[in-house]
Amino acid sequence: MATSLVCKQCDTLLKDVKEAQAHNDITGHTQFEESTQKVPRLVCAECGKVCRSDVERAMHSRGTGHKEFVDKTDEAEVIDTEQQMAAAKQELKEDLEADAELLGVKRKKAAPAQEGASAAAGAGGDGAEAMAVDEEMRRWQWIRRW
Ligand SMILES: [Zn+2]
Ligand SMILES: [Zn+2]
Repeated sequence: MATSLVCKQCDTLLKDVKEAQAHNDITGHTQFEESTQKVPRLVCAECGKVCRSDVERAMHSRGTGHKEFVDKTDEAEVIDTEQQMAAAKQELKEDLEADAELLGVKRKKAAPAQEGASAAAGAGGDGAEAMAVDEEMRRWQWIRRW
């Protein structure tokens, strides 16, 4: 079972889809895979800060003088990529719809999307919003089950 997602472009371990999403936002990286590796989780016994690597832990020690850490790496939770993806997509869709409403753009119609030239015919507003949603959805094709 997967306990993390790994970015194939820079080998960063992400603990869930949300982190992959944030990583994508920051780096533009789009190739993630499920991984059975566990994201290091070193919890500071004094303040509860979670460090994700020895480097981070060392920095935290230096900055705060805190020295005791509990290694909770093995408590990494199994992630349900499908379920997290679905939730993230739903959130994304709601965000986009909210944005579209703010902009006064009409909601996408329930009718199945017609790919191709028909979109060019007339109704600019509808088409543009439908495309924005499709565009965002396309970003989500990168995390798939393999
Ligand atoms: Zn990356
Ligand atoms: Zn601390």
